[in-house]
Amino acid sequence: MEDIFDLEEERLKEEIRRRGARRVLIQLPEGLKSKALRLARIVEEAGALPIISADPCYGACDLPICEAGALQADLIFHYGHTEMAPPASTNVPIIYVEARAMIDVERSVEDALEHLEGWSVIGLSTVVQHVHDLDKVRALLNAAGKTVMVGDAGELKYPGQVVGCNYSNAEAVSRDVEAFLFLGGGRFHALGLALATGKPVVVANPYEGRAYPIREEEVQKVIRQRWMSISQAKEAGSFGVIVGLKSGQTALNSAIKIKRHLEEAGKRAVLLAMREITSEALQEFPSIEAFVNTACPRVSLDEASIFRRPVLTVEEALVMLGKTSWEELLKGGWFKKAL
Ligand code: SF4
Repeated sequence: MEDIFDLEEERLKEEIRRRGARRVLIQLPEGLKSKALRLARIVEEAGALPIISADPCYGACDLPICEAGALQADLIFHYGHTEMAPPASTNVPIIYVEARAMIDVERSVEDALEHLEGWSVIGLSTVVQHVHDLDKVRALLNAAGKTVMVGDAGELKYPGQVVGCNYSNAEAVSRDVEAFLFLGGGRFHALGLALATGKPVVVANPYEGRAYPIREEEVQKVIRQRWMSISQAKEAGSFGVIVGLKSGQTALNSAIKIKRHLEEAGKRAVLLAMREITSEALQEFPSIEAFVNTACPRVSLDEASIFRRPVLTVEEALVMLGKTSWEELLKGGWFKKAL
């Protein structure tokens, strides 16, 4: 499937030559790692030594800045995501390659029309791989008599774009639309879109050439689970406050504030610094009864079933502590930068 993504190989060579780079670190998301050898060859052809980051990478929140230093790389290519704000602080230049998908979207959008029957004002969202197709999708929806809205809150590079923890563009038009059409694969971003906006979401999946709705039960299941985690955490006396060590996930000040709030509420709290938040890593702290995760909120929301103890997001912790309400959370607070 990955052959459909534009890896911008000519740009890779040009950037290496123009900058006189000697050692190049390439970071790829999981779906593109199979292209590592091909890209390494291109880097060599351009006269530099390629090094592939083999660690997992799920977003531009996880740039290999320390790795570039340790490896004395003088250029980083990061594939599959756009730059996050604020920009990463590093002396090594980072080139973002968006890996746009060159794929027909028409069939999936035609299929989506059936699921969108009954709604006439539609919000349009997608990931960076498909932002160039939004005008085409808009025209298809318009031709079917729909009014289309594409939000731009100014936080992400493109109007209509979403990332797993930022739905601000969709939220900007959410009040004015009846439902959203998400253009892209899988359910991860579409489920986040449903949680963030509280609106029905239909996925037009161009990789499968079909469309499907995100079912209300699916969204409610996540919400019920979150309520359960908050309730369980209320009973806990000791907390681990997780500080993410990935470049764009570190929120030390938030973690310190949460620790203070927990202590004021009579709980014991300790800061835990970590890169990968896994069940195994948390199991090493058996005396901690619950966790607050100030790093990637999707780890808390999507992976609850693998954790044996509650792992709350910052906003959920504030609900638990009575500093904000569950209703606020339901109104779209899941991805808010709470502190
Ligand atoms: S959802 Fe998580 S992995 Fe994705 S960009 Fe946000 S913090 Fe990074």
